[in-house]
Amino acid sequence: MGQWIAGDIHTHSDCCEDGTLPVAELVEQSLPYCDFLAISGHARNSDNWGEHQYRAILDARKQFPDIPIFHTGELEFPIERHVMILTQPENREFELQRELVRRFDRRAGVAGIERAEDEMRFIEEGWGLDAFMVFNHPNAPVVAFEHLERLARFELFKVIACIDRGERRAEQVWDVGGDWDRLLMQGRRIFARFGSDFHAHFSAGGHDYWPGEFVQDHLWVENNSYQDILSAYRNGGFYCTVDNMISDPVFESRPAADSRRSELRLEFQIHLPVDHIDIVSDGRAIRSFTDVPVGAFRFSETVPRGLYYRVRGAAKPRPRKYGEGAYQPVFLVNPIFTD
Ligand SMILES: [Zn+2]
Ligand SMILES: [Zn+2]
Repeated sequence: MGQWIAGDIHTHSDCCEDGTLPVAELVEQSLPYCDFLAISGHARNSDNWGEHQYRAILDARKQFPDIPIFHTGELEFPIERHVMILTQPENREFELQRELVRRFDRRAGVAGIERAEDEMRFIEEGWGLDAFMVFNHPNAPVVAFEHLERLARFELFKVIACIDRGERRAEQVWDVGGDWDRLLMQGRRIFARFGSDFHAHFSAGGHDYWPGEFVQDHLWVENNSYQDILSAYRNGGFYCTVDNMISDPVFESRPAADSRRSELRLEFQIHLPVDHIDIVSDGRAIRSFTDVPVGAFRFSETVPRGLYYRVRGAAKPRPRKYGEGAYQPVFLVNPIFTD
């Protein structure tokens, strides 16, 4: 048995100087959209980073016992990038964030790819693989592929953000044959996620959606528990949507009678008219579908055997819920592998 749950692991509370809501209120506002959350305050150079946020999270966990709430920080990684490390409460969650800020803050002068690798080793040695790294907004600025490659050698490096801060889409992850595909072709099992990067909601003069209101990570879990959420992110047992544009995906591959081919099966429910869907394997689109109506989508065929298959899609543009103009909802189904 299992179930789909939805959530957001990139959100800011008023424990950050640019956040607006207390942790408990942020959780409250997320309840219509999220089964779990992570609070990811900006980790600023400090000797005891996270104290304030952590205390607020401990209180919120008592108030909302059914909602896993991860304590994490948006770290200034030694190469120019925001990253987050998520672990379980029992795995010294407070100490992890505090030590990373203390030892590996780029703004305090700890810079360069070697220091970044030191940080990965430090985490893997001290906290094991009951944790994973999220690489935030990868195209702001673009990370050199050579750096991504070196980081991807660590098992900790698991998740790259594709969408965050409203409609910002990272081409390094979205593009067919882009950097994410190149890593997958090297055999790295890395997955993509969407997140809100919530700071302040439109209704309060900000320009962010509530966590889960616009983008959703959908995880396949046994229980809505910290453990199951971590393993779903680590194993790629999740898909991501804007506006819940699809649901209930089934995605499987089996060896075909001809060993150079795979039997691929892909099914899901479409909730918004689709502009295009691509099935991607080994860095190229092997099947594309355009103008697909709302309803059940079913694909089952033998296709050339690849290392992996993944799916991406985009809806027809639709009006923004807040403000002017139109935008294009998208979705990603994370890769499945053939060995
Ligand atoms: Zn950031
Ligand atoms: Zn952020």
